[in-house]
Amino acid sequence: RCQHIPTGPIEATSCDYETIESVTEVLYEHLHELVETPFFRYYRVDLYRECPFWTENGFCMNRECGISTVDESEIPEKWRAASLSKIEMPPDEVRNMLPGCYYRDSDFCFLDDPAEGDYVDLIANPEAFTGYAGLSANRVWSSIYNENCFGLSELNLMKSPAPALVSLPDSLTDVLREDGAETSEQCLEKRVYYKLISGLHASISTHLCHESLNQTTGEWSPNLHCFVSRVASHPERLQYIYFDTVVLLRAVARLGPYLSAYDYCSSGTHEEDAYTLRKLGAVIGIAKAVGQFDESVLFRGENANILKEEFKEHFRNVTRIMDCVGCDKCRLWGKVQTSGLGTALKVLFEMDEKTLDPTANQNLLSRSEVVALINTLHRLVESLHFVGNFRQMWVDAPEDE
Ligand code: FAD
Repeated sequence: RCQHIPTGPIEATSCDYETIESVTEVLYEHLHELVETPFFRYYRVDLYRECPFWTENGFCMNRECGISTVDESEIPEKWRAASLSKIEMPPDEVRNMLPGCYYRDSDFCFLDDPAEGDYVDLIANPEAFTGYAGLSANRVWSSIYNENCFGLSELNLMKSPAPALVSLPDSLTDVLREDGAETSEQCLEKRVYYKLISGLHASISTHLCHESLNQTTGEWSPNLHCFVSRVASHPERLQYIYFDTVVLLRAVARLGPYLSAYDYCSSGTHEEDAYTLRKLGAVIGIAKAVGQFDESVLFRGENANILKEEFKEHFRNVTRIMDCVGCDKCRLWGKVQTSGLGTALKVLFEMDEKTLDPTANQNLLSRSEVVALINTLHRLVESLHFVGNFRQMWVDAPEDE
């Protein structure tokens, strides 16, 4: 099963597994170098907001759950809280505020108030095994999957009739048939939501299995058994990592001109900024070539807008559920990645070509959104790279293992 390499079309996209496989290593190399640059490695995050849904008491005390923060004095002036709150949260755009966070109507996630939180060096705090598990972790995952329930939320029932299930275009009916799903009337958006979450979950599992601590010997090394039981023995989970990758690549491809015109000036040297742009250009080039996802097949037909609002509402809830994760490092990477996915969804479903024009719309995305988007793509592609390592371990393993 570990050797199994998926082939053929990636569900609900116009891309196939072989194409993604063919670019994985080169894309990984560019992304890996890109996320090490100052612009992409420092992320401002509020890790200490209360869980809004239940009293969280499963706080992880393991050493590996902890993170180190960076003093603001080490961060270039223009990214500091005082400057950011002016740029990132223009008051007239803010529609909905809760203590410490906000969202605009177009957002798929709650964003941290830029005046709150700390800077974290993402390279110094890599996603890895932490030992966070048990009831707390399970409650978070099951709450996230439970958000995948469309047409039933009280809020939307109050606002308007529940959205009707959308008929699938014929071309998509077959490819969404796995998991024993019904095929005649199927809500494509619901399937896409599930794939996005399951792919993220599988990517997190791949990371913690690859950067795994042997609690008997105290050594860090890839744990093949962990990967086989959590990911490889459920082939669809692996497939959803590819699916998420294509979705993010499509968002990066659409954002190409905007990202290329973005101000990466980190008060570093001119060479440093030119290097960042060069690496980014390489990633955008690959994204344009292979990021083939047709976002126009979603949210169309009767009640499309209601369904989209509901999808957004659920996804935003997922980003708030991250405040319930009882392990700082897991919470950090959970926030980065749900925010990265949310940013990609916003780009795909809320922005037309005119909006994406960098000259017309310079403040389209905040720095946090750009950093989260690229780091999330890096995580996903890194997972595919790790999957390659696990396949090799499987080949090299003695017969009786
Ligand atoms: P879990 O991974 O907790 O899964 C729970 C159940 O969900 C499984 O029994 C299975 O039925 C189902 N499931 C599992 N994977 C999938 C999938 N891909 N698609 C659909 N269903 C699935 N731990 C770390 O060590 N390091 C981290 O960085 C880390 N980050 C985390 C971030 C978040 C946001 C969360 C919620 C948890 C994180 N954890 C992390 C914990 C980790 O994800 C597991 O919850 C933990 O290792 C316990 O694993 P488990 O075997 O109980 O199954």
